[in-house]
Amino acid sequence: MLRISRSNKIPTFSSEHPPVAHCQDGDTVIFETNDCFDGAVGPDGVRDWEGKKLGKYMGNPATGPLYVEGAEPGDALCVEILDIQIRSWGAMGCGFGEAGFINIPGEYETRAFHYDDGFVKIGGKQIPINPMIGVIGVAPAGEGISTYTPDAHGGNMDCNRIVKGAKILFPVAAPGALLAMGDLHALMGDGEVFQYGLETSGEVTVRVSVIKNAGVKQPTLYQAGKAMVVASAKTYDDAIRLALESMFDLLVSHGWDRTEAGMLMSMKCSLAICQTVDPQVTVRAMMDEDLIVAE
Ligand code: CA
Ligand code: CA
Repeated sequence: MLRISRSNKIPTFSSEHPPVAHCQDGDTVIFETNDCFDGAVGPDGVRDWEGKKLGKYMGNPATGPLYVEGAEPGDALCVEILDIQIRSWGAMGCGFGEAGFINIPGEYETRAFHYDDGFVKIGGKQIPINPMIGVIGVAPAGEGISTYTPDAHGGNMDCNRIVKGAKILFPVAAPGALLAMGDLHALMGDGEVFQYGLETSGEVTVRVSVIKNAGVKQPTLYQAGKAMVVASAKTYDDAIRLALESMFDLLVSHGWDRTEAGMLMSMKCSLAICQTVDPQVTVRAMMDEDLIVAE
């Protein structure tokens, strides 16, 4: 099976990056990923600030890109998350000061949490891990986009529904799609409110397939019986509008009458915040998957 080493790091999603691997439509591929610190925080929780100053680490690196044969602009790349294996510990900072949505004074520090048994131990509590992918996407049209910034190409969406068993459709904007991913979290709530998930590295096994002329404009996620449109923008107002309009388009493109699609959305569509801390915010609009196709 094709395996992409975590030494293939990129700081942007861009059609300028030469592919590090090629695969066929329908292939299964393993991506080895780095954590968002690029290894600058050790299992003791200590951050190597000196090394950061010296430029030893890349911020929030993604592994890739992978060229998928046959993927052309206008198609969708379907990525099925077959497995996520993470290392046995994660690290995080605590975003005091001005961090995303909040401004709570405090001293920044990093800590590590070990969860060999599948549970994070914090404040006397034991919380089960729920591994997810923070950064996953394809090359955007036009200029490259930092791996810190989510947008229509995916990227740093920090959506905690991107877990084992999920399937995501991305709009292809460059030949080969150029898939990359990184920034795994052992655990993260909706919002990633204090700036970090429980940051970790690992291996992600995916199956990639090309859907011709799919009409997909935003990352569209299927997981645990739900269909979701994941939308990112500078403001919540814009992200919410984009998510709802895209969900409406999804329903209409699957045969729904426009009025009934609107009414159905009022009855059954739920909005949730994915993250509040990245250069663009991310929300998702969510429906039961079995309602998407009209009878
Ligand atoms: Ca992230
Ligand atoms: Ca992260």
